[in-house]
Amino acid sequence: MTLIGHIIFLLLLQSSVLLAWQDYKDYQVYELTPRDSSEESLLRKLAREKPQWDFLGPIRWHNESTVRVMLPPEEASSLVSLFDSHQLRYRLLIKDLSPLVQAQRAENLRSKQRLQLPHIDVLAAFYTHAEINAYLDSLPERYPKRAQVKQFGWSYERRPLKVLTISNGDGRRNKPVILIDGTVHAREWISPSMALYIIQQLLDNYEGNQELLQDYDWVIMPVVNADGYEYTHSESRYWRKTRKPTTDPDCVGTDINRNFAHEWGHDAGSSSDPCEDIYRGERPFDQPESQVLRDILLQYSPRLKWYLSLHSYGNYFLLPWGYTNNLPENYQDMMDVAEAGAFAIVHSTNGIYSYGSTYYVLYPTSGDTADYALGVANATVAMTMELPAGGFSGFDPWVSHIERLVTESWVGVRAMAAEVIRRYPS
Ligand SMILES: [Zn+2]
Repeated sequence: MTLIGHIIFLLLLQSSVLLAWQDYKDYQVYELTPRDSSEESLLRKLAREKPQWDFLGPIRWHNESTVRVMLPPEEASSLVSLFDSHQLRYRLLIKDLSPLVQAQRAENLRSKQRLQLPHIDVLAAFYTHAEINAYLDSLPERYPKRAQVKQFGWSYERRPLKVLTISNGDGRRNKPVILIDGTVHAREWISPSMALYIIQQLLDNYEGNQELLQDYDWVIMPVVNADGYEYTHSESRYWRKTRKPTTDPDCVGTDINRNFAHEWGHDAGSSSDPCEDIYRGERPFDQPESQVLRDILLQYSPRLKWYLSLHSYGNYFLLPWGYTNNLPENYQDMMDVAEAGAFAIVHSTNGIYSYGSTYYVLYPTSGDTADYALGVANATVAMTMELPAGGFSGFDPWVSHIERLVTESWVGVRAMAAEVIRRYPS
């Protein structure tokens, strides 16, 4: 290509990126504080009836818990009049999301100006799926005895889905495994950051953490929902689902965390409507990304001691089951592990985590990955960690807050890993 051709190409590329980017002009975020169970039920009903209102977290009324809801400008007046007529407690957090989205995008691009792939500084920016893959691919060269990368499959849009295995390099095979995934939900950007921080702790800071690798291997997949995650970088910051088309031509994407084949398809914990954010798919595992994560879980199943899925936000350690109010047999053991994490964090930063079964602590979910990990892949302990909130929506921490969020969360993950290793020696 000639120089002029190059310039025209770059201009076209830039304008197409700018044109495609959703600016969230006049999108609003409200915070609600339900006062009793009837207000909780009313809000849950609204969440079901109004898919254009994006409830960003669990709706619960215990302990002054709040929930944020994001909505497009044309919905604002109907929300306010509905809330006023029911005398609900609410406040407007932000009346136009666009400057925030723009400022954060600019901050992140600025932070990456000095980026020299494959090296990345986890604390300095949020990285794309391609950047994360380049970093993962570089690790076996830097740590030939301790790091191994394997591609397990492809996303719907043909992005390679990669998994890193970390060991202490002593050559002992078939150690028990801690399996961690991130970015099942695209917009939860602190999740891949946390997965990368764990990797750096185990590889770069091996001296400080070697007891966590003496008898256990760690398997880490930082980005499960690669297409959705890429979409949040390039087009729509608050996208949650995959990017595979559905039976409804107007609605794209399935919730991977409702697509797993353990008690899949309950209406109380998932949706059959392709336009909803908790759409479970036509069939379990009809998403390539779910298939890949399933294959990883099953491959490590005989050695799987702890499955940890990193989500945000809300400060929860969520245990199975999501689909029923019955509790699994080893519930108390899993609670003890979660408690070790919650104690370590409150001791370190005064950060408060709630923990318990998903069904009780949050709400019913069916077809989620933790239920599958326990119920089918025989993980000894299965858990979803809802990392802390950031920004106005909860999903959008500033780059400058990454360090605080991931170092606090690592205190919890480290304590839980130590507890798992102590309880289930190899
Ligand atoms: Zn999530």
